[in-house]
Order: sequence, then structure tokens, then C-alpha cells
Amino acid sequence: CAIAAVMVGRRVRSRRRWLRVVRVLDEFEETASTPVGRLRQVVDAMAVEMHAGLASEGGSKLKMLLTFVDNLPDGSENGTYYALHIGGTNFRLLRIQLGGQRSILGHDVERKPIPQHLMTSTSEELFDFIALSLKEFIERNGNKNNQVRGKDLGFTFSFPVKQTSLSSGTLIKWTKGFAIQDMVEKDVVECLQKALSRIGIDMNVAALVNDSVGTLALGHFYDKDTVAAVVIGTGTNACYLERADAVIKCQGLLTASGGMVINMEWGNFWSSHLPRTSYDIDLDAESQNPNDQGFEKMISGMYLGDIVRRVIHKMSLESDIFGPVSSKLSARFVLSTPSMAAMHEDDTPNLSEVAKILEDSLDIYNVPLKVRKLVVKICDVVTRRAARLAAAGIVGILKKIGRDGTAGITSGRVKSGKSGKMRRTVVAIEGGLYTSYTIFREYLNEAVGEILGEEIAPFVILKVMEDGSGIGSAMLAASNSSQGQSQSQ
Ligand code: BGC
Repeated sequence: CAIAAVMVGRRVRSRRRWLRVVRVLDEFEETASTPVGRLRQVVDAMAVEMHAGLASEGGSKLKMLLTFVDNLPDGSENGTYYALHIGGTNFRLLRIQLGGQRSILGHDVERKPIPQHLMTSTSEELFDFIALSLKEFIERNGNKNNQVRGKDLGFTFSFPVKQTSLSSGTLIKWTKGFAIQDMVEKDVVECLQKALSRIGIDMNVAALVNDSVGTLALGHFYDKDTVAAVVIGTGTNACYLERADAVIKCQGLLTASGGMVINMEWGNFWSSHLPRTSYDIDLDAESQNPNDQGFEKMISGMYLGDIVRRVIHKMSLESDIFGPVSSKLSARFVLSTPSMAAMHEDDTPNLSEVAKILEDSLDIYNVPLKVRKLVVKICDVVTRRAARLAAAGIVGILKKIGRDGTAGITSGRVKSGKSGKMRRTVVAIEGGLYTSYTIFREYLNEAVGEILGEEIAPFVILKVMEDGSGIGSAMLAASNSSQGQSQSQ
């Protein structure tokens, strides 16, 4: 009888512990929820902020930066071009051969992880690394320095830059964990050009390009209906083609095409409609850039794993279902987003991948299946919110440019803008979260459809542009080549 009483007592205590954890999950899920009504509020807020950012400098947290790209590649470009891309976890080097008529005859891409210490060192060290890597890449491709003399180079630099021309601009601030103080407000192209001459490479940086702009360029190269591009990788951002006369803050902005690509820097978007949880608030407060990049911190690869880690930490403080509280749970970024995605997409019957990652990343051992399922659920809440918010951002852009169909539906014909039918609208997308994380991609696509509704959604096509940020930048170098459009090998 006494033994039975002890057993019952144990069961009651274990049930209570479980209920405490379920309460943490429910509360998180509730605060992070993104019903379509809330997403529509985010859509409206995005469109409003875009207007404000275009109206005056500092008019919004959205910087709405000029890119000086007024002509997107159209497929006629030809010749061999190089490009460099720095901005996330990897540094990329590219060489492409364009053959006119929308053809890419060949392209080589090399990825190199950026040594951690360079992300917080000096501008000279970072750019020497970049220049040296380019030299080695050129040599590995069988060329000598003199064979690339005078060649044009595209430079994708995926941070907020105030451009002064297509091939110059100063760094506004760092994001994504980079922090090289002497670089802020310096001309990025000048830094690269100096490093190239230190190392003896005589190439000309013909285009300084944000990764979202590169993605738009490649999208447009293949499909002229591409009007916007989104990157969802380590960081997140979007750009789109705007009418020059809508850029009120630059009165009299004249471009040959009457338009210009605007780099929104949407990672810094903020609205009271965003479903912010206590975990987001803590993540922000402990970050290198508090009160900055709020949208990015809810959406991008640098942060999602860390939100999951924070929820697990809270649960393990509330109850012992994860065993003794692991000290790793209080260390930032120990659970990476790729690991989180692997747990989320674990399709083994007993979730052995989840168990392995909990052990490897967080020193949490031997948790029962029920607890592993709970972890998958946390990953799901974090990913679903991220994907749906990105979807709302995309529709916000469409709304701003009159491509969301809200201008009205008359006699069965969907209208867009002031007149005419809703036009086919393509959005180019790059970045590992969308290209490699299937559940994320599905949630995003689903939410775009939900917000637009079934009549409009078929007109909007989201297209993956693998390596678009780099290839597109080489293409922009090509279309703005100092040697015209026919550089030889
Ligand atoms: C940067 C953007 C960039 C985005 C995606 C953000 O942190 O501010 O310039 O486009 O990451 O790489």
C-alpha cells in the first residue's frame, strides 16, 4: 500500500512537470501565432513603411536604399566576368561566361567559410583575405594575373550600403555578427580596390551589389516579369523595381528606364503587429545590435536555432524533462539553424536525429520520445512564424507596387493598379532557408497563397535563383562593363 502511494505520488509529480512544460509551449505558440488576419496587418504595415522610407531619409526603419541599378540584365550580355560575394557564413567566388541570348555558357563557383576572427578584425585584414582568395581562384581557373587585367568584377556585399553610384558606396552598419568598426562609413569598393592592388590584381569593380539585387538581376535575366527579389539566408532582405518618381526623397531622380531597384533592407522592418515573444526580446537584448534588425531576428538563419534553444532552456528551468539543466543551454548560438532544421525534418520513427542533435549541440541525453516530439513542435512554431512573416513581407511589396490584386476584381477579371488585368508577377528567391529547408519553403508558399487568396495567387510566382546573388552581380558588372558588352576571354 505504501509502495502504491509512492508510485502514485511520483506519477502525479511527473504529470505536473509535464503540464508546466506544456504551459510554456502553449504560451509560446499563442504569442508567436500568425493567423492570416495578423499577416494582413503586417502586409499593410510593410507597404506603409515602404512609402515612408521613400518619402524622406530616416522616414522609416526601412532604409529603402538607392542601388543605381536602373537597367536589369536582359539576356544580351556576353563575355567572361568574375564576381565576389561576401555577406553570410560563406564567402563566394564566381566566374561566368555569358553567351548572349539568355545563355550562360559556363560558371564556376567556389565557397570558402569566412574565418571567424576576420568578422571582427580590421577592414584591411578582411579585404586582404578577399583579394588573396580571388587571386588563388583566378589561378586555379588556369589564368594568370595579366590575363584578367582590366576585367570587370561584380562585388556582392550583403550589408546595408549607402550607394553613391553603381560602383561606390559606404557601409552604413554591420549585421549578422560582423563588427569591424573601422569599416563603418568607409567606401566599400575603395577598400576592395586597394586590397586588389596590394596583391597585384588589376581588375575593375564595375558593380557594387546587395545580394538581393544580384538575385533580382538573375531573375530578370531569365524572366522579364521578375519585379522583386528576396534573400532568406543567414540574414534576410528584399529589393524591388520602383518607379523613379516614387522615390520622393530624391526629387528629380532621373534614370534612362524611369525606374530604379530599391534595396529595402527589410531585415530592419518593425511593426507592433509582429508577434514578438519574450524569447525574441531576450535574443535582441543580448545581441550585438540591440533594437536593430528586428524582422531579421524573427526570420533568418542566424537566429532561428537560437530561439529554439531559448525555449528549451526555459522549459528545462521549469521542469526536469530534459534532465539536469545543461550549461550549454545558456550559451548563445550553440544550436545552429541547420541543426534545428534537421530536427524538424527528422523522419526516423523514433526521432533519433533529434536525440543526436540534442546530445551533440546541447549536452542533453536520453530524452524520451515524448520530449523529442516536443522539441520538433518548438522547431515547427519558430519556423512557421518565420516563413509566414516573410510571406507577409513579400505580399507587402506586391501591395506597394499594385501587384497584389487589391485594386479590385471586376466581372471576374482580377485587376491590378489603376487599370488592366492582374499581371504575371515573379519574385526571385535565394538563401538556404528557402532553397534547402523544405518545411520552411512550404509554409512560406502556403502563406502567400492564403494572404492573396485563390484568385490572385496563381499570378504570383516565387522562383528559386540558386547563387543568384553572385551570378546576378557578375551580370550587372557585364551590363555596366567599361568595355561594353563584349569582353573577350
Ligand atoms: C543585410 C542585407 C542583406 C541580408 C541578406 C542583412 O543582414 O543587412 O544587406 O541583403 O542580410 O544577406
